[in-house]
Amino acid sequence: MQDLKNARRKFLRQSAIAATGLIFMPTIISCETRSGAPSTSTAPAAAPEKTGRKLGIALLGLGSYSNGQIAPSLQFTKHCELRGIITGSPEKVPVWQEKYGIKDENVYTYENLETIADNPDIDVVYVITPTATHKDFAIRAAKAGKHVWCEKPMAMTPEDCQAIIDACTKNKVRLSVGYRMLHEPNTQKFIALSKEKAFGEFTSATSYAGYAGQDPPTDYWRGQRKMGGGALYDMGVYTINGLHYGTQMAPVAVLKATQDRPTDVDVTTEYTLEYANGMTATGKTSVVTNYNLLKIEGKNGWHQMDPMQPYGGVKGMTSEGTVLGPPIDGKQQTLQMDNDALAILNDKPCLAPGEMGRDDIRVIRAIIESAETGKSVDI
Ligand code: NAD
Repeated sequence: MQDLKNARRKFLRQSAIAATGLIFMPTIISCETRSGAPSTSTAPAAAPEKTGRKLGIALLGLGSYSNGQIAPSLQFTKHCELRGIITGSPEKVPVWQEKYGIKDENVYTYENLETIADNPDIDVVYVITPTATHKDFAIRAAKAGKHVWCEKPMAMTPEDCQAIIDACTKNKVRLSVGYRMLHEPNTQKFIALSKEKAFGEFTSATSYAGYAGQDPPTDYWRGQRKMGGGALYDMGVYTINGLHYGTQMAPVAVLKATQDRPTDVDVTTEYTLEYANGMTATGKTSVVTNYNLLKIEGKNGWHQMDPMQPYGGVKGMTSEGTVLGPPIDGKQQTLQMDNDALAILNDKPCLAPGEMGRDDIRVIRAIIESAETGKSVDI
């Protein structure tokens, strides 16, 4: 039966490749990090480990992102594969087992997650649940001795992020944040321009990410502040991380911020950050208005991503008219998971470490404080 499922899976995979023409070349990146700042060197990482072993991934939380993006992307990864699920929704189990050929012994609930410690099939637990639940799930996975991949935004507070980092360190497992943009090839070219200051010293930066949706309903976690709902956590974290990789600097203060909160959560947030060199950056994020841009101005010109964070079609350009490259043909998440798997297999730093996720949450908290007090807030 398992053989039949595997054969069917292989057939589906080959058909999908043939039908879409998708060919994935995982970007192999050496991932030095400097105080949480992303490295974007395009120098090749060490070769995949000699055994060619694939890491077994268990998805924790089978909601829309798992279902629509991560599980499909895992069908194309070279260095990891979907082997397990951890869910609180029993009705999803047979559907996922049938679709992805997941063995009975690799199915877990939130209650028996700890028993995954005894399962050699599973190397990584990928936490893809509401943001306020990341901390507890990630720590439990780390204590079970599994590497942790944690979706963005990493957690509710810098302290919660640090608790995840500490648990992973203590249990000698690896931790990556699901910042897919850092694995996207045009974004990597953009970052390379930032690192070399191709257009001179930076003078200003702009970072916008929003979509024209509805106010999130208050009976859903995205409409609940305590669960990590709202524009700033959900979409704003892209603008903050984008400024981080775009400027290669951490901001030192939030000069001002405003939040539009018609219900429990913000639907739009706008902010101004200040850097140690006196430069400022403006950001805005929304779940009711469409915009998507990351632009870094230098003394001699600019480079930008427009749009900067959709699942596909990310485009980069410079003031000289250079287009950074065609939008990638395929899923960013496939590149992300292969890079994160290679970082584990080769024992190299990853592109999106927990410290980076934590530093972004620190900026989010400072923006909220500035909006609530009407004052500038040091970070
Ligand atoms: P979703 O609401 O579609 O799914 C959430 C899942 O978590 C559901 O299966 C739900 O049953 C489960 N869950 C577990 N504990 C829960 C609890 N206490 N309350 C409510 N649900 C609980 O959400 P989603 O869109 O899949 O988002 C999940 C995570 O993935 C979030 O952190 C989100 O920010 C992130 N995400 C990332 C991207 C990206 O591009 N990187 C895109 C979408 C979502």
